[in-house]
Amino acid sequence: MQISAQTNNLHHRMSDKAEHPPVPEAFAALGVRPSILRALADLSYITPSEIQTLLIPRALAGVDILGQARTGTGKTAAFAIPILQTAVKGLAFQGIVLVPTRELAVQVEAEIKRLAVHTPIRSVPVYGGQKIAAQMKFLKHGPELLVGTPGRVIDLLDRHIISLENTRFVVLDEVDRMLDIGFRDDIRNILSRIKGFGPEAGHQTIFVSATFSSEIEKLARQYMREPVEKLIAPGADDRPTVDQVEQYYFSVQPWDKYVLLRMLLERENPDLAIVFCRTKRGAEKLAKKLHADGIECREIHGNLAQNKRERVMKNFRSGKFDVLIATDLASRGIDVADISHIINYDVPEDPEVYVHRIGRTARMGAKGKAFMLVSRDQGEELTRIENLINMVIPVVTLEGFEARPTPADWTDAKPGMESTTPSKPVLSRFERPYSPGGGTSAPTGTPVPDGTVAAAVAMPLPPRTIGSKIPINRRHRRRR
Ligand code: AMP
Repeated sequence: MQISAQTNNLHHRMSDKAEHPPVPEAFAALGVRPSILRALADLSYITPSEIQTLLIPRALAGVDILGQARTGTGKTAAFAIPILQTAVKGLAFQGIVLVPTRELAVQVEAEIKRLAVHTPIRSVPVYGGQKIAAQMKFLKHGPELLVGTPGRVIDLLDRHIISLENTRFVVLDEVDRMLDIGFRDDIRNILSRIKGFGPEAGHQTIFVSATFSSEIEKLARQYMREPVEKLIAPGADDRPTVDQVEQYYFSVQPWDKYVLLRMLLERENPDLAIVFCRTKRGAEKLAKKLHADGIECREIHGNLAQNKRERVMKNFRSGKFDVLIATDLASRGIDVADISHIINYDVPEDPEVYVHRIGRTARMGAKGKAFMLVSRDQGEELTRIENLINMVIPVVTLEGFEARPTPADWTDAKPGMESTTPSKPVLSRFERPYSPGGGTSAPTGTPVPDGTVAAAVAMPLPPRTIGSKIPINRRHRRRR
């Protein structure tokens, strides 16, 4: 009797094996339940990433966690798996995941849904820009998990469409952004409505981020139950960029930026590229101009209606066009596999933004390149970025590109297309032996000694030529 039951079981397992991809044993070893292992197998997640290895078992043990890992290293699944595994069916809104942008809400929820496909746990994304009525349809059934942007969650709470009385798990994704000045009050508002929420209560909080300043960490801990475990994926702390990204910058005058960008796109022939601008108007104008010059591109920024933004992202993901012109609003939410190039058309004011931008490429170990167009008066911004990422970004030149003298009709205030940064004193970095077309360079990854830019940059290396020379409009379009 016993034997036949075993044989039956074995037979069942074997036939299962024929129909399903093999169980990812490394996830099973972390304590992940079979229903989720099946989803992981469907997704071909075979090996847990570092943050997943660290976070999943501790979260399953019920402790509060501050998790730090570089962007694109599987943070979403790291918190989603233990929540899905611990959640019980039928308890509405027992888990809430707060994220800073609409795109991220869509993306995080989509990942949760993929992982939950063989479980009875349901999730819904909520975010501004979409009609509340449309979201209400899904909220009516009381999904167990809610993923949303703070503003929309507050709106839904105020209208009594959702309640947090059953909430047991709270996740803040991109905590550095969620607890910065802009969102702090909203987060406080939401957390204060969770029944009995606080360090003494039985809620589990998981806060994840690529960076944690000491101020943000202190703030985050106010909401957490001691002993809080801080789990840092190896490498997350010392260099908050993805190692696989080759990073370069061009020294270019503002009036030459457009020409350089166009030539760069033609030479590099990117599979998928994102070009970052500081302003919506800048992104709009740049997209228009590139389009007029025959480069297939679209723009994404806060002026676009939500449905249009979603359409743009869908078409970008499916490769209908290769070049996306984006503002930073979009940078946090973009998880598109195969982004080969990030071009910082405008230098970000905040160095952390640089980290987030370039984190859009080289996802999960793929290769990627990042270029930044830096004008001579932006040495200070460049230095701040280099200090943050703890490496010197090598300068490169583009063969055939000729810097022009200041055009007679040039004004610094030309809208959008060019940097509008007011002139600043030229910084030491640019006082070193350096010629804009001369190709002084340093190897990628030269560490910066504390707070200074390495003198190694002055070391002359042969000029580097960038990329393929087939113009973009003479290439065969990729099929997907
Ligand atoms: P995230 O950092 O959560 O945005 O994840 C980055 C990308 O990696 C997403 O496209 C995930 O679907 C994917 N991913 C997450 N975990 C794994 C894993 N263990 N193996 C393969 N891909 C993964």
